[in-house]
Formats: sequence, C-alpha cells, structure tokens
Amino acid sequence: MQTKITLNESDIPTQWYNIIPDLPEPPPPVLHPGTHQPVGPDDLAPLFPMALILQEVSQESYVDIPGEVLDVYKMWRPTPMFRAHRLEKALDTPARIYYKYEGVSPAGSHKPNTAVPQAFYNSQEGVKKLTTETGAGQWGSALALACALFGLECEVWQVAASFDLKPYRKIMMETWGATVHSSPSDLTSAGRAILEADPDSPGSLGIAISEAIEVAAQDPDIRYSLGSVLNHVLMHQTVIGEEALKQMALIDEQPDLLVGCTGGGSNFGGLSFPFLREKMAGNMDPTVRCVEPAACPSLTKGEYRYDFGDTAGMAPMVKMHTLGHDFVPEPIHAGGLRYHGMSPLVSHIYELGLVEAEAIHQVECFEAGVLFARTEGILPAPEPTHAIAAAIREANRCKESGEEKVILTALCGHGHFDLASYGAYLAGELVDYDYPDEAVAAAMERVPVVAD
Ligand SMILES: *Cc1c(COP(=O)(O)O)cnc(C)c1O
Repeated sequence: MQTKITLNESDIPTQWYNIIPDLPEPPPPVLHPGTHQPVGPDDLAPLFPMALILQEVSQESYVDIPGEVLDVYKMWRPTPMFRAHRLEKALDTPARIYYKYEGVSPAGSHKPNTAVPQAFYNSQEGVKKLTTETGAGQWGSALALACALFGLECEVWQVAASFDLKPYRKIMMETWGATVHSSPSDLTSAGRAILEADPDSPGSLGIAISEAIEVAAQDPDIRYSLGSVLNHVLMHQTVIGEEALKQMALIDEQPDLLVGCTGGGSNFGGLSFPFLREKMAGNMDPTVRCVEPAACPSLTKGEYRYDFGDTAGMAPMVKMHTLGHDFVPEPIHAGGLRYHGMSPLVSHIYELGLVEAEAIHQVECFEAGVLFARTEGILPAPEPTHAIAAAIREANRCKESGEEKVILTALCGHGHFDLASYGAYLAGELVDYDYPDEAVAAAMERVPVVAD
C-alpha cells in the first residue's frame, strides 16, 4: 500500500508548459487602462522585465527553465504526492484521493515556483528592487526568499486584514530581508485615497496591487512582481502538474477528477494544465474543477468582461471573471482567495467549457481542513481547504454511488502561519459570508464598458 509517490531530482521538469497554443481559441488581448487599446511589450516594460513580458505573450508550447532556476528548484523539488489512505478510511469512501504537496518549499507553498524565475529574470536585466502585494503572506514570503537568493531588494504591501491576523508572516519576510507595509498605506496616493474614504479599510489584494504598481512605475530600477493571475505565472507553476503526471504514471493511475482552489488561478493552472493537455490530446478524460470561496465567487457569480487588475485602475485591463475592481471581499481567513478577479487564462478556459467551478463557504472548508489534519497529519493553509472540501464532497458522492473515482488535488501550502484562523474555527467563532449581491452590482457599475 504505497503512501508517498516520490521522484528523483533528475525528474524535475526542464521546461514549463504553455497551454495557450493548444487551446481551440486564443485568449482575448490585454488592454491599456487609459486607451483601452491592446498593449504592446513597451507598455508593460515599466512594470516587468522583457523576458517575462515575452513569456506572457509566448506562442511556444514549451519554455526552457534556466539552469539557475533549476538549481533553486532542487532545494525542494520534486515535491511528493501522497495517497490519502487515512482520509479515505475516515470517509469510508471507495474513491482514491491523492494530493500533490507544495508545502515542502521553504516558504511553505507553491509560490516560490514562480517567485524564483521572476527574481532571476529581473536580476538578469539589472533591476535592483521588486515591489509586490500579498494577502495571507504566502506570496510575499516566496518573493522575499527569491529576492534574497538573487540579491534583490523586496518591498511588500500586505492586505491589512492579514497583516493584523498573521504577524509571523511579516517577520518571516523581514528575516529574508524584505520591507513590509500594511495596505492601504499612506506611502502611495492609491493607499491614501482609500484611507481617506475608509480609515479602517481591511484592504484587498486589488488595493495592495495598486500601491506596489505605483511605486514600481516611478523608478526605472524598480519593477513589480505579481504572484498569480498572469499567463507567465501560471506557466511557471506547471512544474506541479508535469511532476504529478509522472507520479500518477508511476503507480498506473489516471485521475477522474482534478480539484484545485482558485484565488488567481496559479496553483490550479499549475496542476491542471498539463492534464488538460493530455485530455485535449485524447489521452485521458478527467473532470477539472475550480473551487472558490462563497464570499468571493469570481468564476461562479462574477461577470466575464474587461476589468482592471487592481483597484485604482492603474494596471492593464484584462478580460476575466470579475466582481468589480473595487469590490472588497469580506475578511475571510483564506486571504489568498480574496481577489476580485480570476486569471484571464483560467476564465477563458472556463468559458471554453474545459473546466467547471463551485463555491464553498469557509466553515465547511475549515471542517475539511481539520479532518485532513487529524487523518493525514498536515495542517493545510486555509486556501487549499477549499479544494479538500470539494474532494471530500466528491468522495462522499462516491460512497453513495459506489464509484471508485481517482481524485487528485494540489495541497498548495501548509497552514503553520494561519493558526489564528484555526483557533477561531476551533473556538466556534468563524462565520460564513455570502456574496453581497448589491455591493457587487454597485462595483460592476464602476467598471468601464469596453467593446470586445
Ligand atoms: C496564493 C495562494 C493561493 C491563491 O493563489 P492561486 O494563484 O489561486 O494559487 C492559494 N493557496 C495558497 C497556499 C497560496 O499561497
């Protein structure tokens, strides 16, 4: 009875997979926030290094991973895949549940898979400092680590709700050499405008992105780095799915269902895109499902239209499932899932019918996370408890039907810095938030209408 499916260092993928050329239709173009015209590489150059801009629009199916990046990946990759025998037994399900565990990275999540190449390409182009946003702190930690490894400065705006709730993430970022601010801050005009309207703003990823972009855009030595949403970020994360394909093949299994939590879509895309390639080629036929919080349901309830990536409207406009760029989600504990939009690529693939989506409330997710911890031992981050809850729903359906489905999910991070959230759950203090239809309808009215 195998529990851990491991690979050798020589099995680390040497190329990232770009799903775009394999799709039946290309995703819609990115637009300039002011002119609403498609952006060219030069428009993005104040924010990103050229190597990443070219990856963002690449039409190549595979991009070589630089040796310097592979050397860092070897610090924790390949990551293990586990069969959740004990969870299956507790559920009394005939389903077989597997999880690919990304919490073994030094930062504790999948985020270093893209932080490392982003810091590398920026250092190659002579950039001195990277700015970024972070929610729960997973992305800020990953970028702080990557900047330390490639000799860059790192400045992070952390969403206020998480800054207050998760103080040890800040210390971790500072230990790796980063500077961390609570967002909204009085350091930027975007932050000051929000504070003026609401001095107690809990912040949002959209606001923190505006602050980080504003600072980067003003200084040629500074670039901005985004930990999710963009095509190149999802591409970097495909090392997860490429390894998982090899691991499933080793034990002669094929997934019937892939589930992943979706904040901006990067761990989900990273796991699922290589499997979708195989599905589109007719080699397997898994159902692929996104799971999002009921309090921030961009795929299941958002509109598919052009919107700004940030709250202040400085970031390019992308066509995505959105709740409106100034929608501030309730302060749920899965800080990494509190983004008003969804990756344009995941949104496009959802519109094409290649993946499905469901939304789950946070109490059910924490219940799933606690059951997972008590059976599998690992204490999951609040974000992947959404995927675990969805896997458990499916396993329970299999118990009813007797189907022996193979379920695969990404356990994209551990929850060791999220213990205050578990504490609140264990004390019975967590509440479910519903999607406030009126607030979102109002936010959608403030999104400029852009003709396709
Ligand atoms: C950032 C983060 C998320 C949300 O981002 P995605 O791009 O959707 O993956 C989810 N889980 C963890 C552990 C994260 O750090």
